[in-house]
Amino acid sequence: MSTDHATGHTTDRGSDSPAGRPADPTADRIPVMIPWLGEEEARAASDAVLSGWVAQGPRVAAFERAFAERTGAEHAVAVSSCTTALHLSLVVLGIGPGDEVVVPSLSFIATANAVRYAGAEPVFADVDLATGNLTTATVDAVRTPRTKAVLAVHQGGVPADVHALRAACADWGLPLVEDAACAIGSTVGGKPVGHGALLAAWSFHPRKLVTTGEGGMITTDDAEWAARLRRLREHGMNASAAQRHASDRPLLESYLEVGFNYRMTDIQAAVGLVQLGRLDTMIARRRELAARYDEALRDVPGLTPVRDPGHGQSNFQSYWVLLDEDFPGGRDALLGALADAGVSARRGIMAAHLEPAYADHPGGPLPVTERISRDSLILPLFHTMTEIQQDRVVAALREQAGG
Ligand SMILES: *Cc1c(COP(=O)(O)O)cnc(C)c1O
Repeated sequence: MSTDHATGHTTDRGSDSPAGRPADPTADRIPVMIPWLGEEEARAASDAVLSGWVAQGPRVAAFERAFAERTGAEHAVAVSSCTTALHLSLVVLGIGPGDEVVVPSLSFIATANAVRYAGAEPVFADVDLATGNLTTATVDAVRTPRTKAVLAVHQGGVPADVHALRAACADWGLPLVEDAACAIGSTVGGKPVGHGALLAAWSFHPRKLVTTGEGGMITTDDAEWAARLRRLREHGMNASAAQRHASDRPLLESYLEVGFNYRMTDIQAAVGLVQLGRLDTMIARRRELAARYDEALRDVPGLTPVRDPGHGQSNFQSYWVLLDEDFPGGRDALLGALADAGVSARRGIMAAHLEPAYADHPGGPLPVTERISRDSLILPLFHTMTEIQQDRVVAALREQAGG
């Protein structure tokens, strides 16, 4: 059994893993997340390798079709990560130097970085205290004549209120891009996140629900954008390597614009296809564990767990709690106490504007972002988590809370 102590990722301990592995020396430590991977994924990757086609090919195309169907989008374009998915989304919108893009600071730093890759300036908007997401009011407060797009995040799996955001962006004449890195299978108004999105970007990093090791996807209903995204991920080429391979005549490609190498491999896509088949089971299990946390934390004073917003349902990719400002010792002391109890929790979502990379950011004060980032933490939640493990987490929280 291999354990990545830096990320808390461990290999699968699920029911379909082979018996007879050596005892895990860290078995007592409760990780924050374990990817749900098993023999089926291993076989799929092995089949891809043995097929002789390992770069972007038929398995990527099949993964794209399955992904589009699952998220309710017309087109899905596989890329190397959500970061590159965000970058290409901004490129097809024509975002460039001199432009501003409104983004939440409360997000993994890749959201803001993608705007800089496009040569534009991220302008940070504050978020809603309950959901951690942008609202029409927080976007409106920082929008300027140079604003060319809004990039909203479905934070930790909690869906943003995209119906309100899409309507406001339509009024303002601004495209809305959705960073759905964490939100596979979350819903808004009964429809999957991604349904009706202009452009949505997805991640398959092992910290997310569906993983391919590394990987990403862009979904859209626009056929022309999808075609251009396919070119941009592959050096701006007008014919893909797969098309050239399939042709019995030599196809002379040409390079229509400066593109990138942002491709996914067929080995990754093979794993992704199996993972997508597990998604509904994954979400049902996470929601069951989240409900059990809710119940157990009800009488622990000084903290508020994240919950479904009125407009949709979370996949509970992250289960975080927001501490009252006078919580004994504060968040970092609580993280320390949990570590002492053998529980790997994580600080809550970061705030990009507080990092040195964005020391010179434009924009106003972000009080809610700073409050959430300072006072929240993400609790362990993984499919093989036992009631005993969950009770240990709750007991450690209760002790520090003085309840
Ligand atoms: C993880 C994450 C990303 C980056 O995803 P990668 O696939 O690792 O590039 C971007 N945005 C958000 C909100 C994320 O959580």
